[in-house]
Amino acid sequence: MHRPEPDPSGFANALASRQFGVAGADLLAGGIPLRELAARYGTPMFVYDGGVIRRNYRALAGALSGFARVHYSVKANPAAAIIRLLRDEGAGVEIASLGEYRAARAAGVSPEDILFAGPAKSAHELESVAGGIGEIHLESFEEIDRLKAIAARLDVTVPVAIRVNPVASAQGGAMRMGGKPAPFGFDEETIAEVVGQVQSAPGLDLCGIHLFAGTQILDEAVLLAQWRHGIDVAERVADIAAHPLKTIDLGGGLGIPYFAGDGELDLAKLSRGLALLRQRLKSAPRLAGARIVVEPGRFLVGPAGIYVAGINAAKISRGIRFLITDGGMHHHLAASGNLGQVIKRDYPILAPARMNAGEGSPATIVGPLCTPLDTLARKAEMPDLAAGDLIAVLQSGAYGRTASPVGFLSHPLPSEILVENGNIEIIHLRDAS
Ligand SMILES: *Cc1c(COP(=O)(O)O)cnc(C)c1O
Repeated sequence: MHRPEPDPSGFANALASRQFGVAGADLLAGGIPLRELAARYGTPMFVYDGGVIRRNYRALAGALSGFARVHYSVKANPAAAIIRLLRDEGAGVEIASLGEYRAARAAGVSPEDILFAGPAKSAHELESVAGGIGEIHLESFEEIDRLKAIAARLDVTVPVAIRVNPVASAQGGAMRMGGKPAPFGFDEETIAEVVGQVQSAPGLDLCGIHLFAGTQILDEAVLLAQWRHGIDVAERVADIAAHPLKTIDLGGGLGIPYFAGDGELDLAKLSRGLALLRQRLKSAPRLAGARIVVEPGRFLVGPAGIYVAGINAAKISRGIRFLITDGGMHHHLAASGNLGQVIKRDYPILAPARMNAGEGSPATIVGPLCTPLDTLARKAEMPDLAAGDLIAVLQSGAYGRTASPVGFLSHPLPSEILVENGNIEIIHLRDAS
């Protein structure tokens, strides 16, 4: 793994120049200074650089070429413009609600390219998609019964996969979902019974399996071990079912660096490691024709997003410098450290219109909410900044607005725009009234 220097401000600046580019004092997105975008559309705003999403997609699809197809996990960022960009690149999607299904269809994704997971799909959701979907990933016995009844009533055959909660195998994700009790999918120990139930339902066509063992994994060896386990489970399911599988969905979870000192996934190593998995697939006749799917969210869109906020006040309180901004945890819960993080560390953060200001001094950057939870950075190195200046949080394209308590304190939703090669596509404009 490549390790950047453990210096937060150096890390943020390195990400900025590598991913977006800097011209003089300005951080660019899609070739446009963030300062100009902020002046034009107002803050707070999320800016997504379409070129970065494309680059990440192509790098991953290239590394997995001939092994797996990439499906974008829409929950990372459901903006239609982003789904459309990834569809145009060749990605399928993975969704987890009827709302995401509709977003994907509105963005032009074909029904057969949509995979539907989620632990509590309602009868309404299942009924709405049953006639036009790539696969529904079954996660409970109630869901099997529910979908069986719907398939009979609509007189359709629904392609399904069994979501398996794997026994403890590879470790390493920040949030692990394998080996422990979990509401997601069926425990691996129970798959024989599950396969029996699915096969006894005439309207359900058992196509494959789905595993998702953890998120934010930065070690390719961990991913490869999980995928290897997924193939073992697939073979077992195919043997119990006594017929070949069409799909093996190995999940998402590919990580990105957030903090100084974080490694990065090594796609070249990941790609080399696939040789063994290919051999393993060849050794299982019932998996020979299976399509492999990988369904990342964060990896594709996380690095492309920048959250830009404007400073409303700068003050010193008992020796600590506070920068008080119009943006905060109501738009970006993850950056505030309140989205399940055990240790609160600062996301990469910088002053996007003061890129050449040199050494800064420590600042605590907070938002407009009346709670100390609303802190975007605790020890940022920032130049001298005052009301009217900007701050920018990098690595903010995944689990940003969509994973934030946007109703808390009743501020407007942030503007969201997609930029690429000087072109701007508006996703949402903040209602400033
Ligand atoms: C959230 C989720 C993903 C995407 O996870 P990332 O860590 O963003 O890659 C993929 N599959 C399922 C089932 C999910 O719930």
